[in-house]
Amino acid sequence: MAEITITLPDGSTRNLPVGATGADLAADIGPGLAKAALVVTVDGDDRDLDRILPDGSTVSIVTASSDGGLHTIRHSTAHVLAQAVLELWPGATYAIGPPIRDGFYYDFELPGGATFSNEDLEAIDARMRQVIDADQAFERFEAGAAEALELFSEHRYKREIIEQVTSGAASGDLAGEASTDGSVTYYRNGEGFIDLCLGPHVPSTGRLGHFALQKVAGAYWRGNEKQPMLQRIYGTAWADKKALKGHLHQLVEAEKRDHRRLAAELDLVSWPESIGPGLAVWHPKGALVRKIIEDYSRERHESGGYDFVYSPHIAKAGLWETSGHLDFYADGMFPPMELDGATYYPKPMNCPFHVAIYQSGQRSYRDLPSRLFELGTVYRYELSGVIHGLMRSRGFTQDDSHIFCTPEQVPGELASLLEFTLSVLRAFGFEDFQAKLSTRPEGKAVGEDALWEMATNGLRSALESAGLDYVVDEGGGAFYGPKIDVDVTDAIGRPWQLSTIQLDFNLPERFGLEYVGADGGRHQPVMIHRALMGSIERFFGVLLEHYAGAFPLWLAPEQVRVLPVAEEHQAYAESVVERLSAEGLRAKIAPADEPLGKRVRAGKVAKVPHVLVVGDDDLANGTVGDNARGSEAPERDLPLDEFVGRLRAVVESKS
Ligand SMILES: [Zn+2]
Ligand SMILES: [Zn+2]
Repeated sequence: MAEITITLPDGSTRNLPVGATGADLAADIGPGLAKAALVVTVDGDDRDLDRILPDGSTVSIVTASSDGGLHTIRHSTAHVLAQAVLELWPGATYAIGPPIRDGFYYDFELPGGATFSNEDLEAIDARMRQVIDADQAFERFEAGAAEALELFSEHRYKREIIEQVTSGAASGDLAGEASTDGSVTYYRNGEGFIDLCLGPHVPSTGRLGHFALQKVAGAYWRGNEKQPMLQRIYGTAWADKKALKGHLHQLVEAEKRDHRRLAAELDLVSWPESIGPGLAVWHPKGALVRKIIEDYSRERHESGGYDFVYSPHIAKAGLWETSGHLDFYADGMFPPMELDGATYYPKPMNCPFHVAIYQSGQRSYRDLPSRLFELGTVYRYELSGVIHGLMRSRGFTQDDSHIFCTPEQVPGELASLLEFTLSVLRAFGFEDFQAKLSTRPEGKAVGEDALWEMATNGLRSALESAGLDYVVDEGGGAFYGPKIDVDVTDAIGRPWQLSTIQLDFNLPERFGLEYVGADGGRHQPVMIHRALMGSIERFFGVLLEHYAGAFPLWLAPEQVRVLPVAEEHQAYAESVVERLSAEGLRAKIAPADEPLGKRVRAGKVAKVPHVLVVGDDDLANGTVGDNARGSEAPERDLPLDEFVGRLRAVVESKS
């Protein structure tokens, strides 16, 4: 019998009969894999399991344990969602339904402009489970433009996609929905449900089921407000029950930790409508925490060899022309203002100002590296729909640094930069990091090959010597240099991208930066952009959610609240506060004008780390009763000296 040879990801080969499919390959490897297989990757392309494997191809079997497998589960579940909606609402039509992070959505238009209710979601969920129980196979078909238009004649959005992809007008997202070679692919399952799709899918609906429908939202067709408003249903889907449960639990936790909610409850930050969307004001307690964060950042930068600088909030158009921002970043900038015959823009970034400082005098190789640091407030135009509390706003302060160095200094500088970054993040209680290295993009890039190679290797060895887990985004870098992004994982397992170390071979060129080398000649320095926390606002928001508002002692705006049991203990309580304040601790009194139990509860709601109760015995013996945050029972008769010593040690160690 004629055979084909398939190479597996580990380099080994397998011979299979001609006509063997991905499913056959999985079965040939082992029964466990045959059961777990969802799709196959053939020479880099994902395909359905039942497609015939070409001879000589490299094939890997994709299971639910990989991102690709989960993606397929989510994508396939979106089809079942559309199937259920079309069956339940005769006359409904469907648009697109891609997988997204943790789940999927699908956009629909209901007859007569109807909208979905929460009860509808239950009915849809139930119908989806029937489709899943029926274990319908996903079957793939190809069709020419005319046939496809006929098949989807009742569905205007599908027809629009078919017309675009078959005319070759589509690219990117659109092409992902069908095909680009003049024909389209569609899939059929069940009695007659079809959907336009490139695939691949899980073999049959029975492989799905660990999903939950989450919410309904309005969404414009193609995200364009001139187009019809569609009804979008969001869902989440996972490989098994446990993963689904874990995710739903995480969502409940995330809801409780939403920084916008905590900011209001704890009186930290607000966003008055009178000021404008995406622009926060900091209340005293929030500002105090922010100040502690900034003070710590300054202290570390000072000892880390940085020079502090300041720059204005606006600059003339010419600066943004030279920097290139008006070319490639104009959409993200606030509109200009005219002043004394010149045009000024609010700054979206601090970089050109730091370049101007570098340019203020002649630099020699002996002056380098020059590390400039600023808590620089920038303004960016974000669409009102994407603004999200402190996480995405229109005005924020970057802990921004620009390092100018010689090419030879780049590797050493990158290694110490990454160490510095991780050490600062660890001080705030983050322990779990994941990094991404983005390398040179295909096509147009500035900077010599040797420079790219040296910088990329420098970033790689910095990651390795820091012992950091990282992935490589091959070709994912900007045209002007490679970079590292560092994510932290928060207390409920969510990743947050915080730090970026970005090489830049472009700005030094655009601004004509120079230094005098050891050879007496003029050379171009390399510039490194580095934001460590990213923005102070966002970092604060991440910390707030990470700690669910219960800041560690060194960051807590109110570290101790002292509660006199009765009026006659007020003077002693005041002396305790005085002592704590003298020791550099932040303490307040809650006087005995309300019942003690109520005051203790209020202290807990305010997430104060230590609520002290002082009564007769304490007054006589110089002790306190400590209700430490998170502890079951109070610790009584604690000598004040001992309490102070403990707190100082905890603050000192930032634990
Ligand atoms: Zn599909
Ligand atoms: Zn920069």
